[in-house]
Amino acid sequence: MNTEQNAEVRRLFDYDRETVDAVANRKMACPTCHDRGEYRRKTKDGDSAETIFCACGKVQLIQYIAEQKIAVHDRFVRLAGLVPSERSQLSTERQTEVLAELRANPQHSYAFFGPAGTSKTTFCVALYRERAVRWVNSCRVLPLVGDYGVQRAKSYLKDYPIYLVSAKKLLEDFHKESLGDVDEHGQKVHPVVNGEKLARAGEQGALFLEEIDKVHFTEFKINALFELFDACYEHGVQLVFNTNLTLEKFAAQFGPETGPAIFRRVAETCTVYDFFSE
Ligand SMILES: [Zn+2]
Repeated sequence: MNTEQNAEVRRLFDYDRETVDAVANRKMACPTCHDRGEYRRKTKDGDSAETIFCACGKVQLIQYIAEQKIAVHDRFVRLAGLVPSERSQLSTERQTEVLAELRANPQHSYAFFGPAGTSKTTFCVALYRERAVRWVNSCRVLPLVGDYGVQRAKSYLKDYPIYLVSAKKLLEDFHKESLGDVDEHGQKVHPVVNGEKLARAGEQGALFLEEIDKVHFTEFKINALFELFDACYEHGVQLVFNTNLTLEKFAAQFGPETGPAIFRRVAETCTVYDFFSE
């Protein structure tokens, strides 16, 4: 991680890179609050002291979320620190333009269409991380240290409304739920997110769909996907996905009647980037 990529935690927690990393990874006690979660500081006029809620728990929770949700090779990605990549098939100008838009409106919905190698996954990861940081920032989070560290992280994430899921697995789970299937532990299968949960999350919520190209669409799965897109549109939930398919091929998967309807909903909800047309 370089200093720029570390900007998000520096905003929260103003130490050098090594210290931030060590505290985030819970390898070192917080130098500010000594893992108590708050500390006393003199007020500006210097006459009295005030209690300040420490940011170390937030830094640790962001790290925990990244470890759970983001692939190892993408964990360095930060929207604030992203610069155009020479390895991308997109021109530097186009990357600069897209990054400026994403940074200006990181909470908007986006659909990225483009061939492999056009930075689509990087853009999605950057948006996801930014969204997670925003949510963590809005919470009161105590340090995740000690025996209760992971339990505490899990309890915070019970209400976590930012879903980063494989569309393939999610739609298969919808299907299994409808059949009353059980998993390997004998528990009834339920999709990790559905329209109802998205409706409840509202503008706090976000749905990041991966692997939408890998879905073998049936009528049932098409309807389930439509329900999710509808919930995002109706309730102001952020929707982000990317696909290697062209706009036409993406719509064609859903058939001549439903295809245009789904595409219309996507276009109403998302800023659509078509990297097939440079
Ligand atoms: Zn602290």
